Amino acid sequence: MTRIPLIAGNWKMFKTGPEAVDTATHLAQACADVQNKDIMIAPTYVCLPLVATAIADTSLHLGAQNLHFEKQGAFTGEISADMLAAAGVEYVIIGHSERRQYFFETDETVNKKILAAVSNRLKPILCIGETLAQREAGNTFLTLDKQVADGLKSVDPERLQDLVIAYEPVWAIGTGETAGPEQVETVHRFLRTLVDTKISSDLARTVRIIYGGSVKPDNIATLMCIEDVDGVLVGGASLDARIFTQIVKYD
Ligand code: PEP
Repeated sequence: MTRIPLIAGNWKMFKTGPEAVDTATHLAQACADVQNKDIMIAPTYVCLPLVATAIADTSLHLGAQNLHFEKQGAFTGEISADMLAAAGVEYVIIGHSERRQYFFETDETVNKKILAAVSNRLKPILCIGETLAQREAGNTFLTLDKQVADGLKSVDPERLQDLVIAYEPVWAIGTGETAGPEQVETVHRFLRTLVDTKISSDLARTVRIIYGGSVKPDNIATLMCIEDVDGVLVGGASLDARIFTQIVKYD
């Protein structure tokens, strides 16, 4: 089974509209010759239409960093899945650890967001990962099992064909710490087996399981050599088009 690697950039709350367009334009030019890899960037909501236009005729894919699970209504400050789809968004990051930590997202709300995403044909990137305390208490696998099971609860496997799971150990995000290759390999194998036993064998073969947590040009090659690593979710190092291009074009 060949899974096309996904190299995804999460721009978090960085970049104004002109800055986002500039970075996206440079990235698209620098990566124009890249084949057999999906490159995605997720700017802030206000930059989505601008970046959608900037990358319209390029090979880059557009993602959002979040959504609200309701279709519309009195939810001040929120954006729905169909609004994202109408703005040209293809992927959506769901359950990022910063959303869980600072905005109190739970596996239950994550599940509602996954359902909203797939109902609107958005490709969900389900973020999961253990905290340092959970790892030190020996609860890594228990935590991940629950996040996957609860996050994907009652979602028809047929609708999960474009699912991406991002394993992002919380202690490795923005800290400069990267999980070691053995740790990453063990967790990714565990996750694929989990999808196989709890959801579907077909999905286990096709689902892309990507790694996130202080990915940089100097560790990308090691990470991408690991079996069951189908790409990366990059925060800080995706903000600079030159550095992100080095990650995309690792060898
Ligand atoms: C992230 O925000 O998903 C992330 C992995 O950040 P960083 O690459 O900066 O650790």
